[in-house]
Amino acid sequence: MDILFASNNPHKLEEAQAILGAGFHVVSPSSLGFPGDLPETHDTLRGNSIEKCCAVWNLFQQDCFADDTGLEIDALGGAPGVHTARYAGEDKDPAANRRRVLKELEGLPFEKRTARFRCVVSLIENGELSVFEGTCEGHIALRESEGVQGFGYDSIFVADGLQVTLAEISIEKKNALSHRGKAMRMLQCHLQQKHG
Ligand code: IMP
Repeated sequence: MDILFASNNPHKLEEAQAILGAGFHVVSPSSLGFPGDLPETHDTLRGNSIEKCCAVWNLFQQDCFADDTGLEIDALGGAPGVHTARYAGEDKDPAANRRRVLKELEGLPFEKRTARFRCVVSLIENGELSVFEGTCEGHIALRESEGVQGFGYDSIFVADGLQVTLAEISIEKKNALSHRGKAMRMLQCHLQQKHG
């Protein structure tokens, strides 16, 4: 079945398609003629996830889901949290974001660099809202890795149980343990129960 994902981030779209599998065809707003940014005006991941989902529902009147993700670093009191995308500025530059995190944690030993990704996925199906959440616990690396997989903060995040950053593993391995993988498998179960 076709399912609209309220995201124009090619990495998120690729991960979502791989997680949901061949039974689903993930469609983006840009492929339907809306290449723009979606609103994120709330101060919680849940609020932003629902806001993006509602915006796409209002545009297309089609079943859709959205994802809002934040990185919570314990030594920074949970920052950047809901400000993860714009941590180093309004231009949402991923390299600058990573540099800011590494700078703020300078001198802190690995064991004190605990952090997690939190992903809130919301779904509007036949006008009805459901929300799913997945987390991935780990540490912020001492320095950026040279891995080229993934996106965003992946090259500075070492998930629990791994010795390398998320940018150094395959998309399949990342999806198996990631925040997005966990939340979207709940979404997949929910849809499969309804559609068989
Ligand atoms: P948003 O959910 O698109 O608002 O993303 C928030 C921020 O988190 C952006 O800077 C993304 O690049 C980053 N981000 C989202 N998901 C991931 C991920 O799976 N790995 C690394 N960074 C991510």
